[in-house]
Amino acid sequence: MNDQLRNPTAATSHANRLDRLAQVAVQVGLGLRPGQEVIMTAPVEAIALVRKITEHAYKAGASLVTTIFSDEESTLARYRYGREDSFDTASAWLYQGMADAFKAGAARLAVVGEDPSLLAEEDPEKVSRANRARSKAYMPALNLIAGFDTNWTIVSAATPAWARTVFPNDPEDVAVAKLWDAIFAASRVDAPDPVAEWQRHNAELQSRTRILNEKNYAALHYTGPGTDLRLGLADGHEWNGGSTKAKNGIVCNANIPTEEVFTTPHKDRVDGYVRSTKPLSYNGTLIQDIEVKFEAGRIVDAKARTGEEVLNKVLDTDEGARRLGEVALVPFSSPISRSGLLFFNTLFDENASSHIALGQAYSKCIRGGGDLTEEELAARGSNKSLIHIDWMIGSDKIDIDGITADGRAEPLMRKGEWVNS
Ligand code: ZN
Ligand code: ZN
Repeated sequence: MNDQLRNPTAATSHANRLDRLAQVAVQVGLGLRPGQEVIMTAPVEAIALVRKITEHAYKAGASLVTTIFSDEESTLARYRYGREDSFDTASAWLYQGMADAFKAGAARLAVVGEDPSLLAEEDPEKVSRANRARSKAYMPALNLIAGFDTNWTIVSAATPAWARTVFPNDPEDVAVAKLWDAIFAASRVDAPDPVAEWQRHNAELQSRTRILNEKNYAALHYTGPGTDLRLGLADGHEWNGGSTKAKNGIVCNANIPTEEVFTTPHKDRVDGYVRSTKPLSYNGTLIQDIEVKFEAGRIVDAKARTGEEVLNKVLDTDEGARRLGEVALVPFSSPISRSGLLFFNTLFDENASSHIALGQAYSKCIRGGGDLTEEELAARGSNKSLIHIDWMIGSDKIDIDGITADGRAEPLMRKGEWVNS
């Protein structure tokens, strides 16, 4: 791993690095194929990056780039003035249209940079109803994304509200500049040839997944402060990391940045307790110091220092919301972790830390999973839910053993680092 986060290339201008980030989003993130449509979503504050991405997408041969902007003031207006029944409504027509476009071959690009506590003061009941309505309406499109029917990626933009959360002691313009520096470094666009840098990084992640796939562990055992968790892996699970070949044959990097290798836990074989090591920012609610207890894969008790009510409502979304859909390993020394920053943003914080996700599993993390029916996936232990929420359980105090099929424990990570690096 390099040391880019500590030495951002100050000599390279902001405009230059924004251009490189847009290039990485289109060429590495999407791997855009000439003639493909692009559907982009973005906060209005990310307009400069959106314009650069649009430029690079057309240069790469996009047939049409359509961007749907969101605005936080408008979101808040709904909570302030919206009718009571407004919170069970979602733009089903929009998500259905997205699903139709993905089926017709469109690529999906999300620019994220939301205020981590936008909805902190709002009624948790309304927040969870709105989340639920949105999750339900988004399901057809999300299934195509989660199944990699098309190529997709998520990149970040520094917005004022997010920057103020990460750097609360700086004036807003300084905070925004610092957050951009962190985004550029983590997204590996400080190097003169970021596309080559990404090829090298992808190769490194893929050599780690090869080792884990050869081991084919039955379970992982986590120990650390507040944590003693035996996490069974799905039958026929496959570790993934770095770039992915989507079903349309296009190689994409779904997350910019990405540092994780991840697979599917067994939905019925998780036992013990685990404590979160970083705050989780979930749709505007900050959920801190989560402590949960698992029995036979199911969360039977959940506490949190803040956001406990929202957390418990999330767990009640459906049966699968109490079970795990992803397990991911990230060494404590990863560049995002070494920045020492807490981003209050899952895309960054999950890539600074080993994590698990509640809810929906990725079928591509089961060998041949793309061709299996829902029943066949479930029989291997793959979970199903309306939600997929990553939360961080890694730190420099966590040890992880791989448990072989015959029950032997092999040291996999010690104090947050790979044992064989
Ligand atoms: Zn993950
Ligand atoms: Zn995840």
